[in-house]
Amino acid sequence: MSSPKPTNAAALAAEAAKPNNFLRQIIEQDLAQGTYAQRHWGGAPGDGASQQTGPLDPARIRTRFPPEPNGYLHIGHAKSIWLNFSLAKDFGGVCHLRFDDTNPEKEEQEYVDSIRDTVRWLGWDHHFADDPARPGVAQPHEYFASDYFDFMYRAAEYLIESGHAYVDEQTPEQMRATRGDFGTPGTNSPFRSRTPADNLARFRQMRDGQLPDGAAVLRAKIDMASPNINLRDPTLYRIRRATHHNTGDKWCIYPMYTFAHPIEDALEQVTHSICTLEFEDQRPFYDWLMARLCEGGLLVAPPPHQYEFARLNVTHVITSKRKLRQLVEEAHVTGWDDPRMPTLAGLRRRGYTPDALRLFAERSGVTKTGGAWTDYAALDAALRDTLDPVAPRAMAVLEPLKLVITNWAEVFGSDDHLEPCTAPVHPHHPEMGQRQFSMGKEVWIERTDYEEVPPKGFFRLFPGNNVRLKYGYVIQCTGATKDEAGRASQVSAVLIKDTKSGTPGADSVKVKGVITWVGAADGLSATVHLYDRLFTEEQPDAGGRDFLTVLNPNSLNTVQAIVEPSLAAAQPEDRFQFERHGYFVADRREHQAGDKLVFNRIAGLKDSWGK
Ligand code: ATP
Ligand code: MG
Repeated sequence: MSSPKPTNAAALAAEAAKPNNFLRQIIEQDLAQGTYAQRHWGGAPGDGASQQTGPLDPARIRTRFPPEPNGYLHIGHAKSIWLNFSLAKDFGGVCHLRFDDTNPEKEEQEYVDSIRDTVRWLGWDHHFADDPARPGVAQPHEYFASDYFDFMYRAAEYLIESGHAYVDEQTPEQMRATRGDFGTPGTNSPFRSRTPADNLARFRQMRDGQLPDGAAVLRAKIDMASPNINLRDPTLYRIRRATHHNTGDKWCIYPMYTFAHPIEDALEQVTHSICTLEFEDQRPFYDWLMARLCEGGLLVAPPPHQYEFARLNVTHVITSKRKLRQLVEEAHVTGWDDPRMPTLAGLRRRGYTPDALRLFAERSGVTKTGGAWTDYAALDAALRDTLDPVAPRAMAVLEPLKLVITNWAEVFGSDDHLEPCTAPVHPHHPEMGQRQFSMGKEVWIERTDYEEVPPKGFFRLFPGNNVRLKYGYVIQCTGATKDEAGRASQVSAVLIKDTKSGTPGADSVKVKGVITWVGAADGLSATVHLYDRLFTEEQPDAGGRDFLTVLNPNSLNTVQAIVEPSLAAAQPEDRFQFERHGYFVADRREHQAGDKLVFNRIAGLKDSWGK
């Protein structure tokens, strides 16, 4: 973490105002030089000719976020989303949401829907440009890579005709054996010298279903001796009889990712194609392919350019979609949106806000070198920094113990008397108003606030000690009854007159301890989920470790709490600071205002995990 932690809104705004990273510098330079100033936009993705029929592109740059709809988005994607959408926004551009759905086997509508919801939730729908056909209606620039299959096929035929691609009918084993390795050049396939006409005929047979799955592939004809193994005649198309969620059974050949992705970018007139570092070695092929298709007039120069940045790794988290799916399918969690999951659906349900995720992504920086891990605590810090200035406060007792004020009738005339108390909704925002609740003869306190024999430095309730019930009176503890196991079952105390918070002379009795409480008369019962890290190790799957062996057995602790009456009105996804306890959200699935109160702990007030 490079940046210091700002503690107020002004500092947060200042932090947001001066982002700088190598990608921004590249874009600034491209804009200054007019690199992409002559691009046209035909109104929809398409080849060079169709783009040229449109006006100069009103978007100064185009970026894209290209998830494969084969799972739920996770915290790493939040960084890619933030980066691509905010660069487009800051530089007068547009960011496309592109479903990279060229693999027929693993993709599902459920994932498409959840990805779209999540991108919108993160706050990016306002940035989706207007649809000229429906003025004023925000239309996402949302595209599907599978809509480009026809063009991809045409590009493949062009490469064959121009002598840049051939159909290889070696077995997969033979192809592997002739590829060479880092120190050894590969050797040419015997099929490499076929004529373009033969290749074209054979490729059309592949397309028409005349060859079985796996019998042949289309390969680029580049250089089997290249020091970059990705340039040793990479595969462009394979035969695979599978029903695609969008194109059905129209195709039995499908493009490889490395061939498809640059084409998707080009058809969408993307200028800056930003990806993670694993793709660095693919960039020469990306450029090779773009150059060939521009030469052939299928695209218009300048083509998009790829830039790589270090992926986000977060401690105590796994982001492999396969492993996340395993957690769900084997029921180690309750679903993709389990509040312990690092999916954005899970983080949302846990209570993290779009603002916190954005700040977290921004603070984690954009670098060209990888390997660094960001501490999960930084996410909680971002949550606190964004929520502290705005979250309403409330009192909640998470481990309730009854406290009885034995002189209540003596002071107030009756055991049934209820004494009204008030507290600010937010200590720094009087305009947010006051909370109302009442104190009576019986109140709930935290079990941990009473000790029969106080340890050193303990200033809360023990026989003979004075403590303030926050926003209420000072009381003096007189003892406790115990249950059979020897635990306190009920604490008793006497109230000290004329000490009510906010009244003249309230501070005449000095106390060292102030405790939170909820009145027994108006307190509400609530279910509270206390979450902790899902894994006990910082890098759960490091070195090939089975991540299931380091699942935290205490990642969820559910308690029956008593909360102050103002929380009856809480709506799902409302967030609060429970005084002394941290930040909590009304669960978006289980909570029903006024009826069934269910809160999730998002994060504590301080970073206390593992301490
Ligand atoms: P998988 O390869 O497990 O299917 P993926 O993480 O590559 O998943 P994609 O759906 O292909 O998932 O990713 C969409 C975009 O999000 C890509 O541009 C990818 O580079 C980016 N991305 C994925 N994980 C991270 C991460 N941890 N940090 C930053 N960007 C990421
Ligand atoms: Mg991927």
